[in-house]
Amino acid sequence: MPGDVPESPAKDLRTLIPEYAGLARETTLLNPEPGDPGVRESSLGGRLLWPADEPWPYCAQEGHWTYGSDLGNTTEIVPGAVPMVPILQLFARDVPGLEFPEGKDLLQLAWCALIHEQDPRLLVMPQLYWRNEAEVMAGGSLSEIPGVSEGEYDEDNMPQPSTLSPITAEDFPRWLDLPKDMWETWEPRFRLPTGGSAWPPDSNVIGTKVGGWPAWTQPADWPNCESGHRMEHLLTITGDIQLGDCGGVYFFHCRECPGLPWDWRFDCH
Ligand SMILES: [Zn+2]
Ligand SMILES: [Zn+2]
Repeated sequence: MPGDVPESPAKDLRTLIPEYAGLARETTLLNPEPGDPGVRESSLGGRLLWPADEPWPYCAQEGHWTYGSDLGNTTEIVPGAVPMVPILQLFARDVPGLEFPEGKDLLQLAWCALIHEQDPRLLVMPQLYWRNEAEVMAGGSLSEIPGVSEGEYDEDNMPQPSTLSPITAEDFPRWLDLPKDMWETWEPRFRLPTGGSAWPPDSNVIGTKVGGWPAWTQPADWPNCESGHRMEHLLTITGDIQLGDCGGVYFFHCRECPGLPWDWRFDCH
């Protein structure tokens, strides 16, 4: 049926594939704006509300250098683990669409801003934390976050401190992320008379966001937990940080398993 062939690249999958509309999920776009976020505010690249009695995370990958034992001497650097940097902090009050584990109301993310030349697949080695704000406040919070020596950072992996203005939006999968059966049914509609397929624009929301669908820039790569469940998309970080040649960093977790196992992916060109 000629009428089925998409004529205009402006048409999106929602009109071409009715079932696509059924894949809508709510996402919360975080909309970071460079600023000076407080430690008790949701932020990208801002200070994290960190328990004073919990060690700050370090990255011990090979090839990292850090200050020597004489902390007053910032010219002496020696091989060693380096402090990770704050990436994201989300308070439940700012992101109602994000379901927190019982008793938790604060999600934090830190990663290593240094280049991992030995194994680029490691990229940023992120760490994820679920906390209770009141508990951190009651126990006291860390006043100083350790810094690494300047020049050691890969600035691409460092977000500018930014405040967040979360808004919710309807999100859809990238066309590369369509369920297999849906894709097989509908792919013929996008075939061109010359062979190959026309990739239609999709309605995936690109940006740093919570929930919804991953904003993959490469073919989808959903992780499974150790029990074999396909994990849920937790959040995407993209666009607001350079990340070298990479499109984004994507976080996933499994709510079916105790301990909320999580994993991450990134895609590089
Ligand atoms: Zn590292
Ligand atoms: Zn699981």
